[in-house]
Amino acid sequence: MRKLPFDKAKLEEIAKKWPTPFHIYDEKAIRDNARRLKKAFAWNKGFKEYFAVKACPNPHLMKILKDYDFGGDCSSMAELVLCEKVGVTGEGIMFTSNDTPAEEFVKAYELGAIINLDDITHWDFLNHALDAAGVPKDETRWANRLMCCRYNPGPLKGGNAIIGKPEEAKYGFTREQLFDCYRRMQDAGVKRFGLHTMVASNELDPEYIIDTAKMLFTLAGELHEQLGITLEFVNIGGGIGIPYKPDQKAMDLEYVGEGIAKAYKTLVADKGLGKIRLCMECGRCITGPYGYLVARVRHIKNTYRLYAGLDACMSNLMRPALYGAYHEIVVPGKETSGETSVYDVTGSLCENNDKFAIQRVLPVLERGDLVVICDAGAHGFAMGFQYNGKLRSAELLLAEDGSVRQIRRAETLDDYFATLDFNGL
Ligand SMILES: *Cc1c(COP(=O)(O)O)cnc(C)c1O
Repeated sequence: MRKLPFDKAKLEEIAKKWPTPFHIYDEKAIRDNARRLKKAFAWNKGFKEYFAVKACPNPHLMKILKDYDFGGDCSSMAELVLCEKVGVTGEGIMFTSNDTPAEEFVKAYELGAIINLDDITHWDFLNHALDAAGVPKDETRWANRLMCCRYNPGPLKGGNAIIGKPEEAKYGFTREQLFDCYRRMQDAGVKRFGLHTMVASNELDPEYIIDTAKMLFTLAGELHEQLGITLEFVNIGGGIGIPYKPDQKAMDLEYVGEGIAKAYKTLVADKGLGKIRLCMECGRCITGPYGYLVARVRHIKNTYRLYAGLDACMSNLMRPALYGAYHEIVVPGKETSGETSVYDVTGSLCENNDKFAIQRVLPVLERGDLVVICDAGAHGFAMGFQYNGKLRSAELLLAEDGSVRQIRRAETLDDYFATLDFNGL
């Protein structure tokens, strides 16, 4: 059974002030984990994690991560603005977008972000966008700018369950395009380069992550040889998984750190490729295990199956409905109660896949019981939506001293109707 950073009494006290459902994040655990990640890669001078903002786009959490010098990995205007608000700017931002609108390229450029191109045509597209925005088209445009390309290894790398086979993924450059684009950027006066790939999602095999780094280090050598480029960084992307299921093991970050360090020695240091900084842009493993969706049992329904209907629904956490994802469910106060039943744990959306768990063995539930859905700290609240007129919940922070504060209020009907004009109906 999962150990929670709060007990039933504490949750009831919190729920008096902020009614369920809500998301709550454990600040201490987030900080401990951030320190641990940094330490695992401390052998690499300049190692940097760019937190994938999409995983949990709350500025209060981003600010906590900034204490560990984490940057922000962005792929939309809103995410760029969030970074700006938190004071993450310049090369603290990795702009890894795809199908990118011109105005987002311009905003990223204005913020001084590292622009990570997703496609060879985007190089011209970006330059046209900057022309239109009045950015001088002379040697100042690219002087001192750090540019990056996203490599898609295609059939050269095996698949991963969520992202699938690289050759079927919409992201990144082919190998030929990659060399071509770096050459074009050199011709235009770009002098500072990085290299990126992202081929995994929720990957729990450390070897897969180490192999990804090896692949990029090898490519860094080829870029050095063929184009005379000395890369400043290699970004192995995000995608480090977390153990959602009780029988899964957390990624051994220290093992990954050591494995990549060994590869770095032979493929980078011994080859004289310079002091390449290692970067990553993880989201899930940074906040995922440290966020919880707290809800209450609203109804117990006994038909062909036993249903526990919560006051939360897939608008608050859609991973189970979207990918059939497993999330552990804890019933505070009943952890050790012997009596169990098998439930489908549902929300109130008029969609039959609005189920947090299917045929799950849980302590016998009653109306009013608090239910904690674990591992909701990444791709949880963030994926929320308003279909069926369901409103997004509040987000709370459990601070290190045990106090709780609200870091996003719950939506109201006024928020829901804010884009409508009822006049003149
Ligand atoms: C989603 C995403 C990430 C973060 O992935 P996690 O699985 O949360 O680590 C990083 N980079 C890019 C480009 C992404 O799209």
